[in-house]
Amino acid sequence: MNLWQRLVFRLYGRLYIGHKTHEGWKGSLPHYIIECPTHGRVVTYPHGYSMRLECPRCQEEERENRSRAED
Ligand SMILES: [Zn+2]
Repeated sequence: MNLWQRLVFRLYGRLYIGHKTHEGWKGSLPHYIIECPTHGRVVTYPHGYSMRLECPRCQEEERENRSRAED
């Protein structure tokens, strides 16, 4: 991160790093760096109807916990 990016990151808690696409996606979505209290800086993109930015590693762990609870 350069100085400007660090400033934006500190002000908004997220930093836009560009539009990216993934396999199976029709288009591209804006990707951001956010600070997760557990995992530190992670790259993520808006999820769901509310377009929330969530830590993908937290979501992954939540999914695992849920599937374990269903066993
Ligand atoms: Zn996390």
